Amino acid sequence: MADYYGTLGVAQSATDDEIKKAYRKLARQLHPDVNPDPAAQERFKAVTAAYEVLSDPQKRQVVDLGGDPLSSGQGAGGSPFGQGFGGGAFTGGLGDIMDAFFGAGGGGGRGPRSRLRQGADALIRIDCDLSETVFGTTRELTIDTAVLCDTCTGAGTEPGTSPEVCETCQGRGEVQAVQRSFLGQVMTSRACARCSGTGQVFPHPCHTCDGDGRVRARRTLQVKIPAGIESGMRIRLTGEGEVGPGGGPSGDLFVEVVEREHEVFTRDGDDLHCRLPLPMTAAALGTTLKLETLDGQEQLDIAPGTQPDEVLTLRARGVPHLRGTGRGDLFAHLDVQVPTRLDARQEELLRELAALRDEERPGSTGKASGRFGRRRR
Ligand code: ZN
Repeated sequence: MADYYGTLGVAQSATDDEIKKAYRKLARQLHPDVNPDPAAQERFKAVTAAYEVLSDPQKRQVVDLGGDPLSSGQGAGGSPFGQGFGGGAFTGGLGDIMDAFFGAGGGGGRGPRSRLRQGADALIRIDCDLSETVFGTTRELTIDTAVLCDTCTGAGTEPGTSPEVCETCQGRGEVQAVQRSFLGQVMTSRACARCSGTGQVFPHPCHTCDGDGRVRARRTLQVKIPAGIESGMRIRLTGEGEVGPGGGPSGDLFVEVVEREHEVFTRDGDDLHCRLPLPMTAAALGTTLKLETLDGQEQLDIAPGTQPDEVLTLRARGVPHLRGTGRGDLFAHLDVQVPTRLDARQEELLRELAALRDEERPGSTGKASGRFGRRRR
């Protein structure tokens, strides 16, 4: 026996409204007009049969009592439960099928469509320097989008003229056709091609926008880039996108930030990193380095005995946190540089130093470190 509730995907306790909704939803996906797949057509047949049964209180009662109103025993001709399926009758009437495909309850929702459409969103990418993303800035953008036509203010008609009723559909916005289907003859409606379903035609379209109600125009606007923004993030400017067809409401404009590579600093979230070259002698003796940060020059004290790959941390010299307060840190990675060319005098001095430190044969006197990658910070 057929599982009518399961076919429609509703519970046995479903209300009439829920059953109707479930059927509409399935019919929109499975109707042969929209889904030519034979499997879908089979399912549509089953779904329609289930709806026919469950939308009829008497038949539904039969199902709930464990019977099947469509089985030959009970569903045949003279049965009190009405005709069996497939005879061309549809309990809910053709109106229900039409409703299923064209939406809106009661059949009142059909008719001409509005010319107005929501406008599309627009996207623009801007390159920013690191200093701009760190401190924030205001940029002037030049964008090219659809804007409302000044001549007709979106109406699409030449000023002084008005739209006329479409003769093809008599203003209904749709045309009907009779189609043969397993249900017998079914009336289907399609949007009128002549008026695109609006029910109106423009014998005198606006000469500026050719009836579209909008034109393309270049304009400039200011966008505030917040401090701490990252590459790939988008700023949304509500209503600054494209005006819709027929002068419909504008979409939004998204401004995507692309951060340019900085020659000194690389960014990792809200932290910044850089490498600082440090001569071997300075690492051993200690010194003071100057570092040009985004906030200005900073002095870095290098302690005597600084090791290769040591990292100095400059607190709160990184990128401001976009949400919340405070900033990331700036890390200066020290590159201790060993001289590659020594003149005679330099070599003599180094050899003397090595002798003084008993380092002439490090392999024989030095101790191997037990840990790989050990690092002093
Ligand atoms: Zn116009």
